[in-house]
Amino acid sequence: MKAAIVTVGDELLTGDTANTNATWLCARLSDRGVDVERVTTLPDRIADIARVVNEYHAEYDAVIVTGGLGPTHDDVTMEGVAAAFGRDVGPHEAALKHLEEVGGYAAEELAEGTVDLPEGSRALHNPEGVAPGAIIESCYVLPGVPAEMQAMFATVADEFEGQQTYSETVETTEPESALLDRITEVQDRFAVRVGSYPGETVRLKLTATEPQEARKAANWLDGHVEDVAE
Ligand code: ATP
Ligand code: MG
Repeated sequence: MKAAIVTVGDELLTGDTANTNATWLCARLSDRGVDVERVTTLPDRIADIARVVNEYHAEYDAVIVTGGLGPTHDDVTMEGVAAAFGRDVGPHEAALKHLEEVGGYAAEELAEGTVDLPEGSRALHNPEGVAPGAIIESCYVLPGVPAEMQAMFATVADEFEGQQTYSETVETTEPESALLDRITEVQDRFAVRVGSYPGETVRLKLTATEPQEARKAANWLDGHVEDVAE
């Protein structure tokens, strides 16, 4: 399963808010064996959301969008996604019913537009807030508020499943530029992918579809790096 993530919000593009939603979703999806192939951040602008969601929907098995869902003027995520599918937004009966019956709200209490979802979508209840999310075909629209996004994702997490992978990490003080031959060789010897992450040391992450393959590759690599004395 291949997925794309779209995070919407002007505040993400100005650096006022760190895009923790993208990182969190990448980690959850990759835990579930789903390959995330795109993460795109967009301004609160309907046309941009529509264009990118339309493209990613055609390309990937699932698209997850996070951004403002509420009724305030800058919360255009739902409208943008609806436009991507050529649909209008309108009051969603099941979402309203849920807020009345479970949330204890009276319809008049809810700000106008609160339960507006793309026509024909499935409503996702918001366990941590009010504004519902939605599923349209294979596109999941979740809130921007991290706690709400995480709680809502938990309600659909089972729908994301791919090839389970297993990782092992080898850390070395040998410089990355010197390690290239070993990185190539370990991939020739074992069915692993290697990620190389330099910092104060170099972290080599070996990923395989079988746990023992990752472990064997890590053992081999561990025996073939040369730690540089401090
Ligand atoms: P509210 O109902 O409070 O107006 P909203 O519906 O406008 O919220 P957002 O516009 O998504 O929702 O923003 C809500 C909060 O979540 C903001 O503090 C915003 O910075 C934060 N937020 C939005 N997107 C992300 C993200 N990708 N990563 C981390 N935080 C985010
Ligand atoms: Mg907003």
